[in-house]
Amino acid sequence: MIDLRSDTVTKPDEAMREASRDAEVGDDVYGEDPTVNALERRAAEAVGTEAALFVPTGTMGNQIAAHVHTEPGQEALVERESHVYKYELGGLARHAGLQVRPLDGGARGVPTPEQVESEYVEEDLHRPGTGLLCLENTHNAKGGVAIALEAIEAVAEAARERDVPVHLDGARVFNAAVALDVPVTEITRHVNSVMFCLSKGLGAPVGSMLAGGEAFVERARRARKLFGGGMRQVGIVAAPGLRALENVDDLETDHENARVLADGLAGVDGFDVQEPETNIVLVGVSASGLEPDAVLERLRERNVLATPFGPTTIRFCTHRNVSRDDIERAIPRVEAATSP
Ligand SMILES: *Cc1c(COP(=O)(O)O)cnc(C)c1O
Repeated sequence: MIDLRSDTVTKPDEAMREASRDAEVGDDVYGEDPTVNALERRAAEAVGTEAALFVPTGTMGNQIAAHVHTEPGQEALVERESHVYKYELGGLARHAGLQVRPLDGGARGVPTPEQVESEYVEEDLHRPGTGLLCLENTHNAKGGVAIALEAIEAVAEAARERDVPVHLDGARVFNAAVALDVPVTEITRHVNSVMFCLSKGLGAPVGSMLAGGEAFVERARRARKLFGGGMRQVGIVAAPGLRALENVDDLETDHENARVLADGLAGVDGFDVQEPETNIVLVGVSASGLEPDAVLERLRERNVLATPFGPTTIRFCTHRNVSRDDIERAIPRVEAATSP
């Protein structure tokens, strides 16, 4: 089976399993797990913040960030195709009591400073006030596009001028940094907090990091407890996370594989392939005359897995557990699967 559904399907390698077995542990709710403490220091260093917090999932990291940055009733500016808006079960409303104001980030999923200016709400007797701007990089729903530094800087600046904190959903922010060929800190320095996943392209079995200033992370630690995310001898899962942070440079291989895959799929009849910037390849299938689910079923019969991504689109995602060889074997199978 060549599994191209998501980079979340990566399995921990031997080194991660050994690191897990050998990890020094303690009770992290007491702050006594040396492995988690090391991971939190390393992660903060990696993204250039004062501190970081280990969280079980990216979703929890985003939700904690929104909870900490805002007061209930405030508005959050979110991009209308963003994960935090579309795929977190309305959590901003449920966990943080926020009213969301979705902005159309266009083809690349990034709002403009003008949109922030016009959608910003100043608090008064009647109006709740804007409490947060969320950005996403890479932007998953737009096809893993890497948002340019200038675009982030401009929109973050528009928020900062209005004292609105900016949270970055950077589930794949290292993919963005690799694609843009900049240190990740060039991206993160424009925001007040960032969440990134260890469990996607970096290959850890579990976990994400929520990073920001010292005071923010202290409050985030309390919010994590509130959300039921205080963990005990969690060095067992933090140890693979530490290894995962060494895998950043390997993401380039995933990006190359995505380009090879996209080139191959561009030759498939009825496929409209979006040029990949990172490890995600979106393919419009309407011209094939098949529904996405029908295409996926035919792929599955030939041992290739992809994922549905809207009414006419499917998504392929490369990752460290698929090789160039796998990609080259997948292409003719997709061709065969979709030819009449
Ligand atoms: C995967 C993902 C998340 C959430 O991560 P989980 O660990 O699955 O909760 C958040 N944002 C984006 C853009 C993602 O791709």
